[in-house]
Amino acid sequence: MNRVLVAEDEARIASFVEKGLRASGFTPTVVRDGTAALDLALSGEFDLLILDIGLPKMDGFTVLRRLRQERATLPVIILTARDSVTDTVAGLEGGADDYMSKPFRFEELLARVRIRLRDERSPEVTVLRHGGLALDLRTRRASVGSRTIDLTAREFLLTEVFLRNPGQVLSREQLLSLVWGYDFDPGSNVVDVYVRYLRRKLGADRIETVRGMGYRLADPDQ
Ligand code: CA
Repeated sequence: MNRVLVAEDEARIASFVEKGLRASGFTPTVVRDGTAALDLALSGEFDLLILDIGLPKMDGFTVLRRLRQERATLPVIILTARDSVTDTVAGLEGGADDYMSKPFRFEELLARVRIRLRDERSPEVTVLRHGGLALDLRTRRASVGSRTIDLTAREFLLTEVFLRNPGQVLSREQLLSLVWGYDFDPGSNVVDVYVRYLRRKLGADRIETVRGMGYRLADPDQ
């Protein structure tokens, strides 16, 4: 239940969504036009479709209509332009399960993806762990050993991204895009600021700086 088809022609958004999904444990495939989107959506190879409305060759509404005509039950989340109420209503009436208006933060899309892909037969992991650090995704609590730690919403998201990619170096740009969104100022030092907050709360040696590359979640006991 983790194969996600992403139909988006704007490279920046497609790459933002693709990287975010991959970092969150999904297997994304990106297509750039409506014809390819419809072909793949009908292949039975996917669990969810994220569908932009403004696509070349065949627009998102047509893709959605043709998909539903084939009685395909694939869940669909449409991406609409900001404040386009008409698009949203038409999309939902056309058989979309949910919508996301642009610009959006990845976490908002991720929440919708998770709702659509929730499968009762295989309960998803609700506690992420690494080297004594644990993050409960349901109660939204962090702990180190037996100590419970309060995190702000943004600190929580940053911790979640690190825990989903243990031992991997994550660049500032990746972290910025995953936690703050694709339209955030790339020159911002907000990632460094929040890493400092997390080190204060979780332990100074919990997040390593990899010079010139980014940050890595470490296991201080190793
Ligand atoms: Ca578009």
